Parts: sequence; structure tokens; C-alpha cells
Amino acid sequence: MPDLKSYIDHLYCPKCNSIYPHEAVAHLCECGSPLLAAYDLARAKAELNKADIAGRKEDLWRYGELLPVLKEENIVSLGEGFTPLLPLQRSGEQLGVAKFFVKDEGLLPTGTFKARGAAVGVSKAKELGAGTLIMPTNGNAGAAWALYGARAGLSVKIVMPEDAPKITRSECLYGGADLYLVKGLISDCGKIAARAVAGHGWYDASTLKEPYRIEGKKTIGLEIAEQLGWNTPDVIMYPTGGGVGIIGIYKAFRELRELGWIAGEMPRFVAVQAQNCAPIVKAFNEGKNVSEFWPDSSTVAFGINVPKALGDFLVLEALYETGGTAVAVSDDEIVSGQSELCAREGLFACPEGAAVYAAAGRLRKDGWIREDDSVVMINTGAGIKYPDVRSFTPPYLPLDAELQTP
Ligand SMILES: *Cc1c(COP(=O)(O)O)cnc(C)c1O
Ligand SMILES: [Zn+2]
Repeated sequence: MPDLKSYIDHLYCPKCNSIYPHEAVAHLCECGSPLLAAYDLARAKAELNKADIAGRKEDLWRYGELLPVLKEENIVSLGEGFTPLLPLQRSGEQLGVAKFFVKDEGLLPTGTFKARGAAVGVSKAKELGAGTLIMPTNGNAGAAWALYGARAGLSVKIVMPEDAPKITRSECLYGGADLYLVKGLISDCGKIAARAVAGHGWYDASTLKEPYRIEGKKTIGLEIAEQLGWNTPDVIMYPTGGGVGIIGIYKAFRELRELGWIAGEMPRFVAVQAQNCAPIVKAFNEGKNVSEFWPDSSTVAFGINVPKALGDFLVLEALYETGGTAVAVSDDEIVSGQSELCAREGLFACPEGAAVYAAAGRLRKDGWIREDDSVVMINTGAGIKYPDVRSFTPPYLPLDAELQTP
């Protein structure tokens, strides 16, 4: 199979600027920071143009030049990417925002945004010769890495809090992963995984402890720009847990500007968190560059229950650099937002997506979002992965029932 024309050049540390080769397995920088992939964008700018991309297959591999995988044979794909950017007409009218869109990631394999990171992360792990992957997860990432790992023929070990959504357990187990449950938080699972990595030399696929999950998540930003005709929206709103999504989308827009494919202002990034787990929001409000561990965190939006993110400083940088903001919403707002969005638009979003929807209402009301802003909210997953957020008790009919009007 042919080589891909990836422009990846090296890995670098955004904290201390150390450089690492991309040809070897790499995890954190010696200073403890996550590493990011750098591309030869000057060469890409000279050799590649947007028209080259236009006719390609509608999946995230259409941006292969800006992805780290070198050989096509290493691509592990379940058809991920190019999710729809849908107008939210009625909600926009209700809120008073003329251009309101949702990027619906619920349509991805495994039903969440985590498929992007898993597709690229697993492909690259395979290319680098990894045998056994291990990761702590709040559920969705574990499910995605278990299934992409199965497709790659890799052995996968997942450590998950016992109260993570049950469906994600099944996905891991159907996929043949070794699944372990913990009576604790993702941070507790992370400590167990770190000990296992130290003891066994397994490939550490923890959030931001390998540099390629971000590259997969970056593609959502590339898609948004392409779907808007290589334009930037004014505002991008993302439910923020580990922060990989925001870091990735921000990276996408920076790379596109460097390529000269988009111009003008950066979108203003909004990190949305849950009231009972809002370390990034707290740090932002205090003007800090790093967050503090959030004790006793809890929320129905399980994917954003991350009390302390390794990449917090990168998320905060994206917010400060773009004139963005951070918002916390309550679980009540999340649950009612989920129903409102579904009833208005027919879109059954996950609670994390609903959190963003609720936050959009708040930011419009207080004037932070302006009437003429174009706003893209990310729905990170499908509501059907969370069957127990609300329970309904519809009435039963006898078999001979006659329905009355209305
Ligand atoms: C993981 C997850 C998030 C948070 O994503 P990060 O990129 O880690 O901030 C949001 N929503 C869902 C559904 C998730 O699974
Ligand atoms: Zn460093």
C-alpha cells in the first residue's frame, strides 16, 4: 500500500519547547507536559491546496497530510468523520442568534466524538508497533479505543469508574478488551493505569499521555472550517472534560491559518463544564493559567466529569488567546436542555452536548453571544448512549382503545 503524504515533522513540548522525534513511541515530555505534533506547514502550504481535498472520501482521513499516520496500511477505520453541521433554526430564532449550528458527533462509530481520537490514536499506536494499550476512561473513550483496538488486532486494557455509563462496559467487553472497574473517579483509574504502565511497559493511551488522540480530535475543527466553505464561525462551544477537543479544534484553526486556508479572526472558544465539576471555569474566572483538582466532582454528563485535566493550561490558553470564555451549567439545566433541544430540533444529544446548548442560552441572554454571531455548538455524542438520564412513564392503552382528538 502507498505511503500517505503526511507532513508530520516532529513532536514538541508546549511548556518547555523540547523537541522529540515522531518516529518513536512518545508519551509525556520529560517536564511532565503533554506533547503536540508539529507539521511542516510551510511545505504543505506550497504543495497542497484546499481544492485537493474537496473531492476526497468523506471521512477524517481526507486530511491525511495534516495527520500523523505515515502508511495507509496502518489506518484503522470504521468510517469516522465528516459528521453533519446542522442548522438549529428554531433554537436560533428562540435564542436570537441568526446563525446557530450543531456539529453532530453522535453519528460517529461508537456514538461519540471519542471515535476520532481513537481512529487516529490507535492507527498511530499500531504504526509504532504497540502491542498492548491501557487507558483510564469515563467510559466513552474506553469504548472507542476498545473497538478500534479490536479492529487493529491490539490487546486493550480499560480501567473505568463503576458508575460510568453501563453501555460503555458492554462495548469494551464485546470488543474483547480486558475491563476493570474502580470504586472511584477517572483520576483514581489513572493512577492504577500509570502503575501498570510502569510495571509492564504497556502503551499508555491515557488522555494527553500520547500525542495523537489530539490529532484525531483536531479533524472536527478542519471539518467545521471546510463545511463553512473554509470560513471560521465566530464562536465554538465545547463540553470540556480532559480538554482534548478544545485543544484539538484550536490547533486545527491555527494550522489552517498557517496554511492560509482561512483568514480573519479566530473563533472565540467556549469551554462548558458542569457546576459540580468546573475546574477550568474556576481557573478562567480567577484569571489563572492552570486549574486545581476539583474535589467530589459529580454530574450526569459523565464525559466531562474530569476533576483535573493534564492539558488544562492548553485549554485555558485557547480561551484567553481567542477572547473566549468558560461557563458552568447545573445538572438540572443539562437535563432540561437535553429535552428542549430534542423537542425543538429532533436531535437527541448526549448530556454533554445538552450542557453546551444550555450554556448557549445563558451566553446569549447575558449578551456575550451577539445576535449576528455565527455559533457552532459541538454535540459530542448520541443521547441513546445514556438511556437513564430521565425516565418516562407513558400511559398504557387497553387493546380496544379509541384515541380521542386532540
Ligand atoms: C470525553 C467526552 C467529552 C469531553 O471531551 P474532552 O475532549 O476530553 O474534553 C465530552 N462529551 C462526551 C460525550 C465525551 O465522551
Ligand atoms: Zn517539556
